[in-house]
Amino acid sequence: ATPTSIMVGTGRAAQMGIFFRKGESLQRLADARVVAVDKTGTLTKGRPELTDLILAAGFERFQVLAAVAGVEAHSEHPIAQAIVRASQEANGREATPAQAFQSVTGFGVTGQVDGVDVKVGADRYMRKLGLDVSVFEAEVARLGDEGKTPLFAALDGRLAAMIAVADPLKPTTRQAIDSLHQQGFKVVMITGDNRRTGEAIARKLGIDEVVAEVLPDGKVEAVRKLRDTHGLIAYVGDGINDAPALAEADVGIAIGTGTDVAMEAADVVLMSGDLLGVPDAIGVSRATLRNIR
Ligand code: ADP
Ligand code: MG
Repeated sequence: ATPTSIMVGTGRAAQMGIFFRKGESLQRLADARVVAVDKTGTLTKGRPELTDLILAAGFERFQVLAAVAGVEAHSEHPIAQAIVRASQEANGREATPAQAFQSVTGFGVTGQVDGVDVKVGADRYMRKLGLDVSVFEAEVARLGDEGKTPLFAALDGRLAAMIAVADPLKPTTRQAIDSLHQQGFKVVMITGDNRRTGEAIARKLGIDEVVAEVLPDGKVEAVRKLRDTHGLIAYVGDGINDAPALAEADVGIAIGTGTDVAMEAADVVLMSGDLLGVPDAIGVSRATLRNIR
């Protein structure tokens, strides 16, 4: 490949709001066969809403919401903001922020609210704490199949509620996935979220494969495994927890409205806040390489 044609290609991409930070990634993207994508904030808006709160016997809605929101007030996770907003709406005021807040990455969060020990997170967090969530089994299955994320709250070591949040898809995601398919790509979702939830969203979008319930380090591992089977991998993400996978991928593509950490780890940055820049980037890359070869 001549440096001049690569420069022309990256220039053309830049006019479309696609920034190739290195010329090599333009070449590598032309040879990739798989696009792996993060879910939250990449396929979805990253702005979930609380949709359901189902109480265990002996617990009261406002009390549980205030306790949970007190802990989530300290968390940066999009799920946390959904819970804080719901509590504010229900109780008409901000919850008392928790003491001794701790985030258990990939599992959930914990803290003390008015002397009560509060824990909120995924089913695996409750299992880690020795709590049985099977009373909510039917609801978890139903809500998961609707593409909602099931969470659980425990107060003083007792399971208090199941909470569901739903994160709407970005309006252009479906079209972007269709374009990637037309370009011959296999599209794989990699998410820390619940398997049922991930699979429901993948079905809706026509995504080919789902790697779900991955812990934060698991995204890198998932990219490596995909590479062993399929060759060059492009990975698209927006979050802090995507940075290692963006760096590991043969072409890391960051959504420009995402975190700075993701953009720094990426080879390509999309100025548009959505996935449509990915098929566009591939189009430019292939056109450039066709002219060269
Ligand atoms: P993702 O970005 O794909 O959601 P994370 O590793 O950030 O992956 O989170 C994995 C899971 O851990 C979430 O789907 C959720 O179930 C749980 N979790 C993480 N942070 C929180 C939080 N602040 N409140 C409740 N649950 C959380
Ligand atoms: Mg994300």
